Amino acid sequence: SSTPANIFEEGWLKRVYNEKPVKEVRTRFPPEPNGYLHIGHAKAIAVNFGFAKNYDGICILRFDDTNPAKEEEKYFTSIKEMVSWLGFSPHQITHSSDNFDKLYELAEEMIKKDKGYVCHCTKEEVNRQRGENKGGERFACSHRDRPIEESLTEFRAMRDGKYKAGEALLRMKQSLVDQNEGNPQMWDLAAYRVVEKNHHHRTGGKWKIYPTYDFTHCICDALENISHSLCTTEFQQSRISYDWLLEILDMKVPKSEEKGPMQREYGRLNVEGTILSKRRIAMLVEGCTVETKNADGTTSTKTIPPAVRGWDDPRLYTLVALRRRGIPAQALLSFVQELGVTDALTSIQTVRLENTVRKYLERNVPRLSLILDPIRIVVEDLPEDQAGELSVPFDPKKPEGDKRTVTYSSTVYIDRSDFREEDDPNFFRLAPGKTVGLLNLPFAVRATTFTKDAEGKVTEIRATKVEGEKPKAYIHWVDARPGFHHTVVAREYNAIFKAEEPNGLDWKNGGYADDLNPNSEVLHKGAVVEKGLDVLTAKQDTKPAGGSDALVRFQAMRTAYFCIDPEREGDNVVLNRIVTLKEDKDK
Ligand code: ATP
Ligand code: MG
Ligand code: MG
Repeated sequence: SSTPANIFEEGWLKRVYNEKPVKEVRTRFPPEPNGYLHIGHAKAIAVNFGFAKNYDGICILRFDDTNPAKEEEKYFTSIKEMVSWLGFSPHQITHSSDNFDKLYELAEEMIKKDKGYVCHCTKEEVNRQRGENKGGERFACSHRDRPIEESLTEFRAMRDGKYKAGEALLRMKQSLVDQNEGNPQMWDLAAYRVVEKNHHHRTGGKWKIYPTYDFTHCICDALENISHSLCTTEFQQSRISYDWLLEILDMKVPKSEEKGPMQREYGRLNVEGTILSKRRIAMLVEGCTVETKNADGTTSTKTIPPAVRGWDDPRLYTLVALRRRGIPAQALLSFVQELGVTDALTSIQTVRLENTVRKYLERNVPRLSLILDPIRIVVEDLPEDQAGELSVPFDPKKPEGDKRTVTYSSTVYIDRSDFREEDDPNFFRLAPGKTVGLLNLPFAVRATTFTKDAEGKVTEIRATKVEGEKPKAYIHWVDARPGFHHTVVAREYNAIFKAEEPNGLDWKNGGYADDLNPNSEVLHKGAVVEKGLDVLTAKQDTKPAGGSDALVRFQAMRTAYFCIDPEREGDNVVLNRIVTLKEDKDK
């Protein structure tokens, strides 16, 4: 189907809306600014921003910045850029840290309601209380029943720096001791912890204690008047504690969606054949050092070099990488739409994304001639003064549309793969004695002889003009005169790993490195492209609006889809292969 169904007006998301059909829909996209977004986040962005847009509501971009040790400015910037690249503008950009004062007050309120206590048990002790013990029974520690006043005093002492990390913890007083409560999210979760590396990019040295996700997320949703809090299914178990805390704080009414936010969980998007985990991508980007134990008891260290150039290397599935590779934002959104949204995990192969992208590009980008591996043909009976030019539409299906000038002369480049030294009756392109058409040209060529270099590589083909005869096949070509084409570097991208499921590789001991695909990037350094590329570059809007970007994309006829990379190699333009023209069956 060419137009995917509106995922917001039917199915799972429609039912979520119907559970709380409010006038003012308010959603949020709440990334942790501790890394670059990946293709899975495109689903989260499409779901949250799209849901709001569809119901005439608003969506907030909220940075969930409660973990000062892991957050960096560059991630904030990149996340904002990616949301805008996907075509969305947040109604507001907020931070969980905007609410640190309020969150602290609410924590005191929770204690005053006898629903929180300061605990000094070690992590191991807490785990034992939570059932990690022989009998499996859960039990309270002595701190659980301490007087409210004492917990308040201790919580303030935590705030004021009396305790080191691990020495005090504010816990919610939930259902730890109720042996019938099977959900671990109700076993007295942590609400606040002391953090040693506590310098926060926005609040500086003000706080020595930081709220947990479980304490922060629901309250921030309530404070921002979020109506539908959409998250992924690993938070299904957390819905109960989400509601519990809001009810304690009078921000929600039990068993009702009258007041406060409603959390609902959709299935994550997982892409097979690549890796999305931050930690693993970091190993590919930075390389790593692993220690291995030898049989004689000694250890040796192995240094594995980086496998990609950076987080935006087009072989990765981070959003910055997909953008650089030339995947159009619109195609990525169509992809999420086509997959649909339910509460089930969506696991797909990379080829599925490529199919959607190909369909999109097929309708939307101009065509040019690019020769990846050129061989020169000299058309001996076409004197230099018979060189000429033609006006050719960028899209053969739109003859009235934009055109570029295509020049030709007695020397043209064709691709090495379109020539055979020995003819074969099943081969319809160029070979000695055989005629082939040159796309858009009024004549065909017949090869007469060819020359080879010392290594036996064909360097030049001699040919004659053939007129008034319809050739069996047409090939693409580029004017070979100096100044009548561009020499470019074309980069083709393939899977990073040979394995179909690289998550199953040995990451801990560095074994993943043995499975790297040596052909994940194939370079064509002497590729040539017709001058029409200049026309596209000149036309390109350099100040892209949301939902678009400044990339020049085209279909290299009979070859693949490409875009111009933002960086050059020396004087040469670099092209990135976005996708092949057809699905590659033998990959
Ligand atoms: P990761 O662990 O993969 O880095 P995360 O869950 O830590 O991702 P966050 O920045 O916390 O990333 O996530 C922001 C939002 O994006 C959350 O609501 C989260 O549920 C959602 N999200 C993250 N990964 C996916 C995915 N693969 N598919 C759909 N939504 C996702
Ligand atoms: Mg997270
Ligand atoms: Mg995660």
